[in-house]
Amino acid sequence: MLINENTEAITWNTHGELEQALLGCSRCHLRQDAKGPTSYNGSPASPLAIVGEGPGGVEDDYGVPLVGPSGQLLDKALASVGVTRDRVYTTNVIKCRPKNNRTPTIEEGQFCAREWLDREMAFVRPKVIIALGSVALKYLYKPDGRITKDRGQWFTTAYQVPAIATYHPAYLLRLTGKELVKAKWEVFYDLKAAVEKCRELAPDYPLQSDVPPDLLALYAGRRQDRQAGHS
Ligand code: SF4
Repeated sequence: MLINENTEAITWNTHGELEQALLGCSRCHLRQDAKGPTSYNGSPASPLAIVGEGPGGVEDDYGVPLVGPSGQLLDKALASVGVTRDRVYTTNVIKCRPKNNRTPTIEEGQFCAREWLDREMAFVRPKVIIALGSVALKYLYKPDGRITKDRGQWFTTAYQVPAIATYHPAYLLRLTGKELVKAKWEVFYDLKAAVEKCRELAPDYPLQSDVPPDLLALYAGRRQDRQAGHS
């Protein structure tokens, strides 16, 4: 069952309260096969938000988005445009890992994002959004959006925030040879465009720290809690 009809309309006063409620969510069937929902990492005060697809195995373990192999590739790509992960807000459309890492359906994405992502964005109020991959593009832009055609193009989200889509790092990890080189350059130019717009709209906000964060170390405690069954 996708929707728990008994869901109550609840409001939260702070981003922290919202995160606590999210970590306890079991409003759809995806929760059954996940260790728990994943929330966000980075800074809720950032003018730059990255919205990915959904958690993989490492993310399910740690309870935060983009910390596994895809996240490490994202870190490198962001470093090439002068950004560290602690200075951006990173989240996903879908918070619970679908069984066997399958791609979530559009309906699953819409349900979870309306429960959580939309509310996160209302607190964070970023000035620029980077949509990573097809699931994020389809939710933030249009359901029939195609990442190969629409990446690199600016669009305005329902939050009235300018956004640009690029390939998800998980896609890059599956490529080799010339295809990989081409896709890496496309990602570089997409990220560069996003960072330039962000610097234009929030010139005083530093997007890079001297020491990049060790996200796995930062969330090791949450991982232990989840392994012990306290998500
Ligand atoms: S996928 Fe989203 S709506 Fe479904 S249980 Fe997880 S957090 Fe809740």
